[in-house]
Amino acid sequence: MDKETKEEGRDDNLNEEKQNASSESSDVEDCSEMERLRRYLAQKLRLVDLPAGEQSDESQLQPTLRKLSLDGIVEYIKENENCKIITMAGAGISTSAGIPDFRSPSSGLYHKLDKYNLPHPQAIFELEFFMKNPEPFFTLARELLPEGFKPTISHYFIRLLWEKGLLLRHYTQNIDTLERVAGLPSEKLVEAHGTFHTGHCLKCRAPYTLPWMKEKIIEGAIPKCEECDEGVVKPDIVFFGEMLPERFQVLADRDFVEADLLIIMGSSLVVQPFASLVDRVRTTCPRLLINNEKVGMQDRLSRFLGLRQGLVFDAKSAHGGRDVAWLGDCDTGCQLLADKLGWRDELQALMQRERESLKAEDKSDN
Ligand SMILES: [Zn+2]
Repeated sequence: MDKETKEEGRDDNLNEEKQNASSESSDVEDCSEMERLRRYLAQKLRLVDLPAGEQSDESQLQPTLRKLSLDGIVEYIKENENCKIITMAGAGISTSAGIPDFRSPSSGLYHKLDKYNLPHPQAIFELEFFMKNPEPFFTLARELLPEGFKPTISHYFIRLLWEKGLLLRHYTQNIDTLERVAGLPSEKLVEAHGTFHTGHCLKCRAPYTLPWMKEKIIEGAIPKCEECDEGVVKPDIVFFGEMLPERFQVLADRDFVEADLLIIMGSSLVVQPFASLVDRVRTTCPRLLINNEKVGMQDRLSRFLGLRQGLVFDAKSAHGGRDVAWLGDCDTGCQLLADKLGWRDELQALMQRERESLKAEDKSDN
């Protein structure tokens, strides 16, 4: 009886399916059909990961959260000396730096493009359109150039994780290069949607740097390749219709199964494939969302199909619950997390040091 009650609360599809399979023959067919579909999705489409039992035994031994709260996460980090943390970030970690969310047509930036009669606002980020007419993109780029923007508390919190040897990798949707400005080494960084930091000629692939592109863009010129004299130099940000950087594919495969904790900050978790990264950690890996609202939740179809997709807040799962949402802005959340971890002074000192050196750089530039 005891065993049964325990099993009832389980979210683990495999167990459920095994149990169902032994009960009725019609169920057996349904289940094997469902199981085949699930495996197909898992293996071919990589939409889901296989449940813990099918991965390895060690995931069963991982401790989960004792409290489903920020305090629970803090306790977990303190107890796991070599906790391998992956951070995932979206526009929310850069808004306090004053960077507009340029992909959103409501950001106001798009009014500057009225004169170009775009077929639709997002056309400026479509490769096909860019090849024909790169001018609207560079007009917008002038407004977005990563200049004078300073990293936020959230950026420095991520850097502190790295300094403490806890950061496995930082995955960002942002193209503003603020992680680099904050001093995060490039090997710890995956810029999933590319970056303004570098650019390439679309014709001969000759590489260009941000300062080179910046000069042309500020002049109002379309950056033309100096190697082949023909191609347009496009910053390495990912356009619609372009593949994500190879680095993203390779490292995501390697990192997520390794992670002991996932922290998602300031992303609405709607853009794929970035959003589905949350499903690639082990079933026992706690996931903390720091965001203005709850996002990335498991939808009803996934639940029905028994797919391990999306975050499950306020619910005990097979391992006692692992998803925590802290609602508010990223800087406040990161500061609170740092305070609770006893890192307040260190974060403060790091920010002060870095901001002074950025100020000194600005002065020497002018
Ligand atoms: Zn070229």
